[in-house]
Amino acid sequence: MKPVTDIFPLLKQPAKVMITMHQKPDADAMGSSLALCGYLKKLGHTVTVVSPTNWAPWLNWMPGAEDVLNYDKEKERVQQLLTDAAILFCLDFNIFHRTKHFEQDLYQAKCVKVLIDHHREPDVASFDYGVSNMLKSSTCEMVYDFIVAAGDESMLDTAIGACLYAGVIADTGSFRFDATTPAVHRMAAHLMELGIRHTTIHSLLFDNFLENRLRFMGHVFLHRLEFFYEYNTALIAIPKYDLLKYEIKTGDTEGLVNFPLSVQGIKLAALVIDRDEERKWSFRSKDDFDCNTFARKYFNGGGHFNASGGGSKNSLQETVNQFKIVLKENEHLLR
Ligand code: 5GP
Ligand code: MN
Repeated sequence: MKPVTDIFPLLKQPAKVMITMHQKPDADAMGSSLALCGYLKKLGHTVTVVSPTNWAPWLNWMPGAEDVLNYDKEKERVQQLLTDAAILFCLDFNIFHRTKHFEQDLYQAKCVKVLIDHHREPDVASFDYGVSNMLKSSTCEMVYDFIVAAGDESMLDTAIGACLYAGVIADTGSFRFDATTPAVHRMAAHLMELGIRHTTIHSLLFDNFLENRLRFMGHVFLHRLEFFYEYNTALIAIPKYDLLKYEIKTGDTEGLVNFPLSVQGIKLAALVIDRDEERKWSFRSKDDFDCNTFARKYFNGGGHFNASGGGSKNSLQETVNQFKIVLKENEHLLR
């Protein structure tokens, strides 16, 4: 994988470009993709943004979201656009299987493939150019760096800026997490100077749910949350029945996994949801517990040091039992 800056000469000529992101995109995946799209369009490229799956409706305020294609819904159209594309950008994921059913098309695509991502253990062999930096707060920060490195800072506007700001807010827990460097604050300051409305963006991300989600959370904290103080760990296990009863949609469970970390002493918070295709795990930690290694080793996943995810094909009960067993195995790391 050559440095991402080596792609700049290729971007001098208008080209057909596709941008894609991980399945069930969050604000960083969607925000970075739409920001890059806005920038590349200004350079004169023809750009298509593809999400491998559907996404949370509260991301639809992002400028450009109305044109994003859903691979699951428009497979043939996306396949044709990918065949026609000269350049493919992959944002906020680093291995094709994070795109679910889109995976094989991405492997087989003949175009130039570019990676911009901050997750651990990238599959660098799959990309021609790229930047993979796990110290970065967000892929949005990396897209900002990319535009600045290209010497195109003047092309940033409030539409691009709003997308970038949203991703940074989401991935830094509103400037809380370790990866919130001075450079992140400088970027945020720059975007504010451009005229983005930071309070509005914050509300669009966090005050944009329906009543059912709040009631669902109340139910979950009362009935589905278990503490294992001997391991400084909390677990939330959500059966399918709850999702149906409270009419929970994509994105409604985002952020839920963080709440148990607000309890004194809790070092690891785990959330498992009984989804149709699999039992989907999320892990969040404080301090020195490595969620990436944990998810990789036991739950076929990965991510960052303090935030990761994974999956299991076993039943909810089976995967919860497995979690309890591996907690014991990891006791020395959780003390
Ligand atoms: P979340 O819990 O919000 O779904 O994911 C937390 C972090 O872990 C995100 O950065 C996400 O991209 C990553 N992640 C989530 N699930 C998986 C997975 O199954 N495999 C890998 N490699 N990373 C994941
Ligand atoms: Mn991210």
